[in-house]
Amino acid sequence: MSDGKAADGPGAVPSDSRGRDAVVIGGGLAGVTAALALADAGVRVTLVEGRPRLGGLAFSFRRGELTVDNGQHVYMRCCTAYRWFLDRVGGTALAPLQDRLDVPVLDLDRPEGRRLGRLRRDPLPVPLHLGRSLAAYPHLSLAERARVGRAALALKGLDLADPALDTQDFASWLSAHGQSARTVEALWDLVGVATLNAVAADCSLGLAAMVFKTGLLSEPGAADIGWATVPLGDLHDRLAREALDAAGVRTETRTRVSAVSAGPDGRWSVEVPGESLRADTVVLAVPQREAHELLPPGALDDPDRLLEIGTAPILNVHVVYDRTVLTRPFFAALGTPVQWVFDRTAASGLTDGQYLAVSQSAVQDEIDAPVATLRERYLPELERLLPGARGAEVRDFFVTRERTATFAPAPGVGRLRPGARTKAPGLYLAGAWTATGWPATMESAVRSGVNAADAALSALGRPRPRRLFDVEEAA
Ligand SMILES: Cc1cc2nc3c(=O)[nH]c(=O)nc-3n(C[C@H](O)[C@H](O)[C@H](O)COP(=O)(O)OP(=O)(O)OC[C@H]3O[C@@H](n4cnc5c(N)ncnc54)[C@H](O)[C@@H]3O)c2cc1C
Repeated sequence: MSDGKAADGPGAVPSDSRGRDAVVIGGGLAGVTAALALADAGVRVTLVEGRPRLGGLAFSFRRGELTVDNGQHVYMRCCTAYRWFLDRVGGTALAPLQDRLDVPVLDLDRPEGRRLGRLRRDPLPVPLHLGRSLAAYPHLSLAERARVGRAALALKGLDLADPALDTQDFASWLSAHGQSARTVEALWDLVGVATLNAVAADCSLGLAAMVFKTGLLSEPGAADIGWATVPLGDLHDRLAREALDAAGVRTETRTRVSAVSAGPDGRWSVEVPGESLRADTVVLAVPQREAHELLPPGALDDPDRLLEIGTAPILNVHVVYDRTVLTRPFFAALGTPVQWVFDRTAASGLTDGQYLAVSQSAVQDEIDAPVATLRERYLPELERLLPGARGAEVRDFFVTRERTATFAPAPGVGRLRPGARTKAPGLYLAGAWTATGWPATMESAVRSGVNAADAALSALGRPRPRRLFDVEEAA
């Protein structure tokens, strides 16, 4: 680190700026958000990130002429915090939302071969907005569709504040509410695996209810899907960096924090190579294991609980064809190991042919499979799904693996997730894994960053100047 401006030694801080120095550790979405929110309130912030780039788990890298995302990311209109983030960094137009939810669902497991269904909404109030689509959903029988409606109403009645929901698994609840194995596979898991990174049997009812209630049963447009039409790095690294610079945040990448400790004067010391950063406020916005390593003694009642939070993998299979084989921006699949397929051609900068990203969540059994095995498994499946792929040449095939993509949303995880405040004055936690009420998503990460900044600002007697989640809801 070269610029020592914010690395004040003891006594070096002018008295009028006491209480105004913060170090945010971790440059994922949680840390970037906390840094922006603190800087927006007039706090002098240093953001330190171990890797060469910002964006944490949602990043891009170069591969030949392609700019590749480590994994396809989508968000929903109800993700008001992430939408605030996009707005704050000037990226809203680069990650547009669908005008109206429309998910093509291709089922291969039909006697007649392939069959296309759609999950889409009408411009009607909740729950009628999904009624027509559900009534026509061809991947379920008439009786199954009727039972989905009844389960959705029961779900709507669940009280998300009831901690008992977190002790139950979603699959048992679905079964008790008349949902067949087929309905779970073709509807609840189709959405749930992608949003929660777990099948219903491995998922807390509380988290699943939160996702389905908020996404499908709150506002009509809540589940409209958005995704980046540029590489994720443009949003979470380049634009984030510009916003941080403009807000006066000192950002240090390639800077790994090795220890955090409180001095006798009550100020914090954050150890980075060759330097000790001093601050009144520290936000620890790193994954739960790293947080456990860095937390000073006594900061949490039972810090080992953080180690009980499990993790779940996500695999992306990337295929570049010599021609266009998919004419939609994305689709979901049934009756095949393939889960969701996205066209990333334009976003990656590819000018000739088509680049598809196959996004595979909760793939504990595949995350370590050799590339050759995955190639043998997925290319024929893509040919079954996309007839145009049958005669096409595969120009590139590669895999990105994120073994700890999310925390595992297992029953009981709720009691393990700490809030933003710790018992150590001036030390706060952020990260998608903290207690935001959301599963491990970009939304949870941004919310956690806002929560940490809010807690810090109120302790400093400097409440956040304006409401953050001030984004328009869909009509
Ligand atoms: C493949 C994949 C697909 C996903 N799909 C979606 C999706 O479709 N929609 C969605 O909403 N979410 C999705 N997610 C989840 C989402 O990416 C994460 O929940 C979110 O990015 C987490 O942000 P975070 O800031 O909490 O943590 P992280 O991104 O993990 O950031 C923590 C940062 O801390 C840094 N760090 C750690 N230790 C130190 C240290 N000692 N010193 C300095 N820095 C340190 C790390 O390098 C990292 O940059 C996906 C994740 C993956 C991996």
